[in-house]
Amino acid sequence: MPELPEVETIRRDLEKLIVGKKVLNIETNSPKQVQPSLEAVRKAIVGTTIKKIQRKAKILQIFFSNSTIIIVHLKLTGRLLVREKGDREDDWQHITLSLSGGKELRFADARKFGWFRLLKDEKELQKIFKEFGPEPFDDLTLPVFEKILGSTIRPVKVVLMDQRRISGVGNIYASEALFLAGIDPKRPANKISPTEVKKLYDSLEKVLKLGLRYRGSSDNDYLDALGHKGSYQEHFLVYSRQGQKCPTCSGLIKRIVLGGRGTFHCSRCQK
Ligand SMILES: [Zn+2]
Repeated sequence: MPELPEVETIRRDLEKLIVGKKVLNIETNSPKQVQPSLEAVRKAIVGTTIKKIQRKAKILQIFFSNSTIIIVHLKLTGRLLVREKGDREDDWQHITLSLSGGKELRFADARKFGWFRLLKDEKELQKIFKEFGPEPFDDLTLPVFEKILGSTIRPVKVVLMDQRRISGVGNIYASEALFLAGIDPKRPANKISPTEVKKLYDSLEKVLKLGLRYRGSSDNDYLDALGHKGSYQEHFLVYSRQGQKCPTCSGLIKRIVLGGRGTFHCSRCQK
């Protein structure tokens, strides 16, 4: 699933490519993915102009000139692509926004778990984001992070990925950060020492920054808004490297299942 670096890379692309464009039409061949309905969305946004693109957690927000907002969740396999009108149809293309200047914003999604959702205004948006935890590089400060980990006995990796606790971190960046910090993903979050918490906090920021620098990781379906792959997967230390040598100790990287998700770690380096 695209995480903070992937969704943020798309946001930055969209900001350059579609802000200022007028919406001419929206069409879909997968009506369930457009909420509350294609008709409602069409009525709300056709004729408006795209004002700005924001992101919180793994959710993108497209703001229109009449104060309506569309939030987009890519879920497992969603892609947002900016193409020219008349370009070859994209694989799994399900939603198309026709824009001025001959552009199209396309939503492609192999598994069809992603969605577009219309919101009336910013108030509605704030209501949704009340349920989300603080965001790295923003309100997730070290003291806040300490408090989050200290308040639960759940495994630290499960807490890192819990969107109600911390926004934007998923399986890839949680696995990589825990490896860098030398912490066993199964450890109860409240049993981690203050020194280790600091190390984990710094490691999390480090891997998220690397993810941004490499324009995301395309280990799965992720592509940026121009349809290009990210390259952070070429720099993974443990994620999806089970059976390969640990880059630090040459022991074997193991895959375990934790909170229902594949988790990659080195049991020698992570205690
Ligand atoms: Zn190791």
